Amino acid sequence: MALLASVRTVLPMLSVIRCAVTCAIYKNRTNLFRPKSIIGHILPWCRVNMSATLNSGSVMPRDAKNNGVPSGNGVNKILSDKKSENVISVRARNVIKVKSVIPRKRQDLLKWYGWGYKDSMFKLQGDTAYFTGNRYAIGGKPLPHLQKWAIDNFNIDTSKPPKVPELPKSYPESRMPRNIREELEKIAPVSVEGMDRFIRAHGQTLKDISLLRHNKFPRIPDAVIWPETHEQVVEIVECASRHRFVIIPFGGGTSVSGAVTCPSNERRPILVLDTSEMNSILWLDKEQLLARVQAGIIGQDLEREMRSRGYTVGHEPDSYEFSTLGGWVATRASGMKKNTYGNIEDLLVQTKVVTPRGVMEKGCRVPRVSCGPDWDHVLLGSEGCLAIVTEVTIKIRPVPAVTRYGSLVFPDWESGFHFEREVARRRMQPSSIRLMDNEQFRFGQALKTESSWGGVLLDGLKRAYITRIKGFDPTKLCVVTLLMEGEADQVASSYAGLRQIAAQYGGIPAGAENGERGYTLTFVIAYLRDVAMEYDVVAESFETSVPWDRTLALCANVKTRVREECQRRNITHYLISCRLTQTYDAGCCIYFYFAHNTSQCCDPVATYEEIEEAARDEIIASGGSISHHHGVGKLRKKWYTDTVSEPGRLLLLAAKKALDPDNIFALGNMAFEEGNATENLSIKSKL
Ligand SMILES: Cc1cc2nc3c(=O)[nH]c(=O)nc-3n(C[C@H](O)[C@H](O)[C@H](O)COP(=O)(O)OP(=O)(O)OC[C@H]3O[C@@H](n4cnc5c(N)ncnc54)[C@H](O)[C@@H]3O)c2cc1C
Repeated sequence: MALLASVRTVLPMLSVIRCAVTCAIYKNRTNLFRPKSIIGHILPWCRVNMSATLNSGSVMPRDAKNNGVPSGNGVNKILSDKKSENVISVRARNVIKVKSVIPRKRQDLLKWYGWGYKDSMFKLQGDTAYFTGNRYAIGGKPLPHLQKWAIDNFNIDTSKPPKVPELPKSYPESRMPRNIREELEKIAPVSVEGMDRFIRAHGQTLKDISLLRHNKFPRIPDAVIWPETHEQVVEIVECASRHRFVIIPFGGGTSVSGAVTCPSNERRPILVLDTSEMNSILWLDKEQLLARVQAGIIGQDLEREMRSRGYTVGHEPDSYEFSTLGGWVATRASGMKKNTYGNIEDLLVQTKVVTPRGVMEKGCRVPRVSCGPDWDHVLLGSEGCLAIVTEVTIKIRPVPAVTRYGSLVFPDWESGFHFEREVARRRMQPSSIRLMDNEQFRFGQALKTESSWGGVLLDGLKRAYITRIKGFDPTKLCVVTLLMEGEADQVASSYAGLRQIAAQYGGIPAGAENGERGYTLTFVIAYLRDVAMEYDVVAESFETSVPWDRTLALCANVKTRVREECQRRNITHYLISCRLTQTYDAGCCIYFYFAHNTSQCCDPVATYEEIEEAARDEIIASGGSISHHHGVGKLRKKWYTDTVSEPGRLLLLAAKKALDPDNIFALGNMAFEEGNATENLSIKSKL
């Protein structure tokens, strides 16, 4: 048998070598008698083909240089290696060039003035509401309770016409000098069109959206460039270093920290480097359960491509329809299913980044190395200020055999919290487990499409059963949604275990459908802010992580503080609510939602920001963090030094000096100043 196996292995190798020799001779007639030349062609060819033959589960080419570690440079680097075209074609076949759902002209598909797809939005009409389009489960269906909920909570006047923003009539002129633009055009496509620049001036903070709707950005980028390869990014960064213009790396633009927002007082020309065309899967190794992916791929494209091949990355932030792999790394993102797949820092094996000082990448693809500090961790959460992430090696998993949703109802927030704590203590978390407070439960009811009391989160349960027999107070009860993935028996035993713990805290099952609808609603909630603004309501979410022993107090303190701040400003109609979204051994993540009617405010966004700042002070005083996954950006700079300490801040500045001494990535996030640091730098080109 062994002999047969060896023959089976050796025969294809021989044919591979024969074929490679023929190719080498054909390509290299003039060098035919130079042995080095022939071997130089045979070896790489053999490496690639033999590895593919022997490792039949893999579509990853191997590179013996670097100890058999795949080069990860993908097709583009290899294409530039003109001497070995036979290697090129083999590797090129392995690259999965992904067709993104989002076109380069984002504005053709996405709203220019807010969140998400153009055809998807909440509308109020007569005395009902509905959600347009058919992309989401609630699309096209009447939402008979939403309008009443909005009037009760925010006192909106639906008789007034909604304030729909108008397309800008003009844009600031591009300050990108012509000679630089021409140089850039030789590297990759460039645009200086107003709309292309305008929609990449910002992320998704309330302030961003307000400035966008009123066309009032103090600064927008001067040009946009779409590189397709790591090498093109290197050339662009070299060009910026030569001419000293600013580069803003732009992924999906879903930042909620002001991180991607154009620094207002930057005097140098600003180039947005849009990563969306860098979206190939360079290789996929089914044996190692790894994939090398270009950083501009958006979450939904990545997941679709992986799933079509039987794999999943499993990283699903609520923004994953639009956010990118590079953006996740740059912001230290966290996904809904982190209990199974990990947060981005757990998923990442290797990153390749471009800095003005050169390309940085760990020299080996190993699971761990005792050689600190881990520079990948310096880049994780560097918010575009140190480098551009171009390629990432990430872990993948086979698509789980079973995905099951579930939901549980608890009499109040405290009992739901203690349930979550116990599940974490016993490390029994399913892929996702989220607890919603009563305000969010009622908001879920307002989004139901049916006219019955049950609706979104309580389908299948009789109101009488919950309220009369179980004695739950509808103004206090809370809901936990569950997402379980794995083998059928694992999922069944996980659910049984969770139900058992829930019973100890008074929780009762509320059905799979409610769990699933709870999850899918997450994706449409982001659309609410746009309709809210049309009726003079501003809204935003903010999050934190907190130790278990301080969680209940933190939630209560923050809600009280927000209520006091609203009272002080005579804001009578507002909503403050929270949910517990992620659990760990040492604590959890709490997400707050705050919205208020702005009729009492002369500057609604400033008022909102003052209250959110007070809430963040309260969070920190109550033992919470500056952020769990939204990052620091420009919005939370105030708390940066206290979070990392003064030596920590100095270390960040030292990293900047080492990697980007001319402040090419002048985003001004975290500890970096906006604009000021650049004033003594002259632009090496005439404007
Ligand atoms: C509705 C909504 C829901 C959200 N839910 C979540 C959630 O569940 N979990 C979570 O973690 N976050 C969430 N976020 C926040 C946001 O989606 C994340 O921060 C995300 O990681 C940003 O990715 P992006 O591609 O959109 O990056 P962008 O917004 O384009 O950029 C963010 C920052 O990263 C930098 N950057 C982007 N790409 C690169 C690159 N290739 N190299 C270097 N720097 C780069 C930018 O310069 C900027 O500083 C949510 C946001 C919204 C609006």
